Amino acid sequence: MGDKKVVSIVRADLPADAGAIAAMVKDAVALIGGVDRFVRKGQTVVIKPNLFAPYPPPISVDRRVIGALVSLCKDAGAGRVVVAEGVSVGTLMKRVNLDAAEDGNVLVRGTRTKDMMRLLGVQRAVEEAGGEICGIEDTETRIVPVPGGKVLYKVDYPMVIQDADVFINLPALKTHTMTMVTLGIKNLQGILTEADRYYGHRDDIDQHLVDILKVRKPDLTLVDGLIAMEGMGAGEGGTPLPMGLILAGADTVAVDSVCSRVMGIDNPLVVNTTRIAAYDGLGTADPGQIEVKGESVAAVRKEFQLPITYTQPIDTLVTGAYPNVDVYIGGACASCWQMAAAVLMNISKIKEGASLIVGRDPKVPPGKDWDLKNTFFLGDCALGCGGELQEVRNRIALEGHDTFLYGCLPYQQAALKLERILIERGIIREQDLIEKARASRERFFEYYKTFDPTWEPEF
Ligand code: SF4
Repeated sequence: MGDKKVVSIVRADLPADAGAIAAMVKDAVALIGGVDRFVRKGQTVVIKPNLFAPYPPPISVDRRVIGALVSLCKDAGAGRVVVAEGVSVGTLMKRVNLDAAEDGNVLVRGTRTKDMMRLLGVQRAVEEAGGEICGIEDTETRIVPVPGGKVLYKVDYPMVIQDADVFINLPALKTHTMTMVTLGIKNLQGILTEADRYYGHRDDIDQHLVDILKVRKPDLTLVDGLIAMEGMGAGEGGTPLPMGLILAGADTVAVDSVCSRVMGIDNPLVVNTTRIAAYDGLGTADPGQIEVKGESVAAVRKEFQLPITYTQPIDTLVTGAYPNVDVYIGGACASCWQMAAAVLMNISKIKEGASLIVGRDPKVPPGKDWDLKNTFFLGDCALGCGGELQEVRNRIALEGHDTFLYGCLPYQQAALKLERILIERGIIREQDLIEKARASRERFFEYYKTFDPTWEPEF
């Protein structure tokens, strides 16, 4: 028993007020040795919460959990407590920013971390607890080596985390369409620069995330599982699932392992980040080597609905999925299959029909009569194909169309370009995007207020 990693689980009925949540945070840390095990007088502590998008829990960590953790560190004598985060790539680049345009009816995209911290009340909670906030995109970085890195050998790393005495990881308990779950290891993505965060979404994302963990392992990982998320997380597509949990541990891999089991994933090794991190020697994933204190996994476990990207073959979302879109995909990696599934939802809005070409070597019928205006190439592989497809591209360009969705991976920039094309053609209206964002915001704001009536967004 002595060598086992310890992970604590504390549960409370919801809704819980700020005092009850602070007690949960304190109890969860007490069960793994108390805050004095991690924080000493005068030290600088950095807390990295998961603030994914401009919505309150379950999309972002509860500001009251963040505030409670800051207070706990200050009470332990911390000299400085910094709450540092970099919001998701989708939030930085693509999500509609409803507050940026003066009349609220002009399409503006992208929200920076500090603005989001203010909106969600995180800034106020942190400052009232004696801490300070930091947006990763506004902070200084230094290039550091990644010891034992397999896909990431050096990385532009925020000095605020590198120089801190104590590093606390504060993820939420959510499913994720690209990584099955987003927990302690996935949460580290947010400390990278915008460019590294962007290209970190390739099909080697799991090893990439594990390599980030090699630069600096968090001293403490505390998980906000008050309102969790299942289904098509980790953003607006996910479904809230109240759990009333706080979990904590010093070993991030062990924490992720326990969290997965709490989410109904009985073999934690099916989560790629957990398995790879254990393989790379960064922590313990084996349930037999982990002691759970407080509540047992069995007592709090719920069967989370996993994202359909993990419950059904990706092919079912791409080939033969839309009756009006012919998909020619071949020699494509997992990233382009996923991106194809994402862009097809919009391409299928072209009523007269369309074609999508993806991969290094898609086969196409010789001499096909292409509708050039509605033939889209997704990803740099497809854009580099020779032979008949090169000729098709040349004809598309000659006719003055631009249906080329660049990138490897063709991520947010490709999705944005497609939206621009469809807006220009009148197939999508800017107003519809704004209204959709407004509806999502209202849904998540109202939902969270049923758990915390004291919360008001700070516009
Ligand atoms: S462009 Fe090619 S290598 Fe890049 S994500 Fe697509 S299929 Fe993979």
